[in-house]
Amino acid sequence: VLRSLVSQVMGGALRRPALSSFSRGMQTVTLIPGDGIGPEISAAVVKIFDAAKAPIRWEERDVMAIKGPGGRWMIPPDAKESMDRSKIGLKGPLKTPIAAGHPSMNLLLRKTFDLYANVRPCVSIEGYKTPYTDVDLVTIRENTEGEYSGIEHVIVDGVVQSIKLITENASRRIAEYAFEYARNNQRSSVTAVHKANIMRMSDGLFLRKCREVAEDYKDIKFTEMYLDTVCLNMVQDPTQFDILVMPNLYGDILSDLCAGLIGGLGVTPSGNIGANGVAIFESVHGTAPDIAGMDLANPTALLLSAVMMLRHMGLHEHASKIQTACFDTIKEKKVLTKDLGGSSKCSEFTAEICRRV
Ligand code: NAD
Repeated sequence: VLRSLVSQVMGGALRRPALSSFSRGMQTVTLIPGDGIGPEISAAVVKIFDAAKAPIRWEERDVMAIKGPGGRWMIPPDAKESMDRSKIGLKGPLKTPIAAGHPSMNLLLRKTFDLYANVRPCVSIEGYKTPYTDVDLVTIRENTEGEYSGIEHVIVDGVVQSIKLITENASRRIAEYAFEYARNNQRSSVTAVHKANIMRMSDGLFLRKCREVAEDYKDIKFTEMYLDTVCLNMVQDPTQFDILVMPNLYGDILSDLCAGLIGGLGVTPSGNIGANGVAIFESVHGTAPDIAGMDLANPTALLLSAVMMLRHMGLHEHASKIQTACFDTIKEKKVLTKDLGGSSKCSEFTAEICRRV
């Protein structure tokens, strides 16, 4: 298993993050509404994009796990075909059965499209009460290996071994992605987060690749920091951070901590960037089955993910217009969904943003 995984990871040619080169016409985006509140918040985003006259043509596809040849789990061929063609997806939450049935669809999508970079901008929203103001940082998480490589086995009864896989190629490509992101988004510094003092070989390799890549980006300040030190500093003063790049497990945990700093998963967008120019943007919260179909969901996280998507596509004007309308609506506090402290419906909140764009 290890050999096949290593060859899978090492075999792919090193690919630089694809920089967008979209023309000015309408662009097709694959829309995966998802489960639970997914269809409601997706419909809200489509409405707001229409109001903002964003040049996007949506191609809606359902994604559920199906069994392909040899009994392997796969996503429906029409969804894969649409993504292969459009290269860009916007995705609502997908439910995952617990401990049985098909694997996580999010993992399946990640594998299918080699979505190697998970990007989460965390920006304080003015007027929305959180422990901090002025947070403006981005976590960039390596999405394909580390402790999440899935290589686990029982050694003897009562002893389990789980392997952390770190490769040169994956470390270099995530570091390159982080520095390219910094350049393309007028960011000034990249911090590599690691535990190379303890995990000398694995995190040591990750850190070495970050240092090497930093040499090619002299315009961006490079720093390195132990994960525990980052946590300490993050809760004391998150404004000191700009871009943080890190291996998979650290990114999973730290990105949720950062989401907490700006008000939680309901307002945190994310993007999963893949090889060959494919990217899927998604809200990081789940399907919220307790409020599904009740017009109570907050569409902010999916909307801000869609704003990230517009920026990725080079549509900065539309992105700013929609983000400003969303932030202004929250700042004014007149029309807010319940989770934001208000009493408005999802449809009313959506209509208010539409009015402002
Ligand atoms: P959840 O995020 O769905 O819900 C947690 C709480 O937050 C609930 O009270 C819910 O009502 C609230 N909430 C979440 N999003 C909201 C929104 N946009 N507006 C208002 N309130 C919101 O987490 P869960 O209950 O642990 O998971 C439910 C399902 O979602 C599970 O099947 C899980 O596997 C799946 N899930 C999917 C993703 C994804 O697709 N990215 C992420 C996490 C969980």
